[in-house]
Amino acid sequence: MKNCDKYKEFLITGEWHIHTNYTDGKNSIHEICRKAIEVNIPLICFTEHVSKELSYDYNKFIYDIKEARNKFDQLIIISGIETKILPSGELDITKPILRNAEYIGVAFHSFPNDINLFYESLIKVFNNYAIDTWMHPGLFFKKINEIIPDSLLNSIFEIMREKRIMLEINKKYDLPPKKWIDKARIYGVNFVRGGDIHSIENLKPDNEFTKFRFLI
Ligand SMILES: [Zn+2]
Ligand SMILES: [Zn+2]
Repeated sequence: MKNCDKYKEFLITGEWHIHTNYTDGKNSIHEICRKAIEVNIPLICFTEHVSKELSYDYNKFIYDIKEARNKFDQLIIISGIETKILPSGELDITKPILRNAEYIGVAFHSFPNDINLFYESLIKVFNNYAIDTWMHPGLFFKKINEIIPDSLLNSIFEIMREKRIMLEINKKYDLPPKKWIDKARIYGVNFVRGGDIHSIENLKPDNEFTKFRFLI
């Protein structure tokens, strides 16, 4: 059982990709909670950037989330993370943070321009860690202006179905491409909403996400 199974009904109505002023977001945890309540978002998941070398106090971040839970008890608040896939097929994260995160999203950021390496490291990560979601899926290909070969995408989706890893519908980058969404539906891969929120102005109930609702 995965942590987020408890919140299955909120995978599309909740907001599962949020950054705060602990990293590159503009707003505090409290400001984000207040705005979520104002716009009737029932669940928010903070997915702060983490790495082996952290630039902020992760314990303080968790403490702030706990405080927010006490203060905003009408809102479901999850403490997740966004972690980077390394070319070695490992995640750029420390063990304690990995253990404590309630929601684990993985992503490619500044990865070498090598499709085979991309594929191998993604499969290793999916096999070796308990991942919830592949975040902004397809950004690697968008950046290098290439299209993923069908055979690779098929085996990625097979493993995602088997491991119950979700595909993020990422609003900021308009990803994944429609072809991926159609294929994911065929493979039975689930979707989760990810606005990639860096400012409360972008935190709003969004009708574009509701078309994915019937899949959950
Ligand atoms: Zn990212
Ligand atoms: Zn992000």
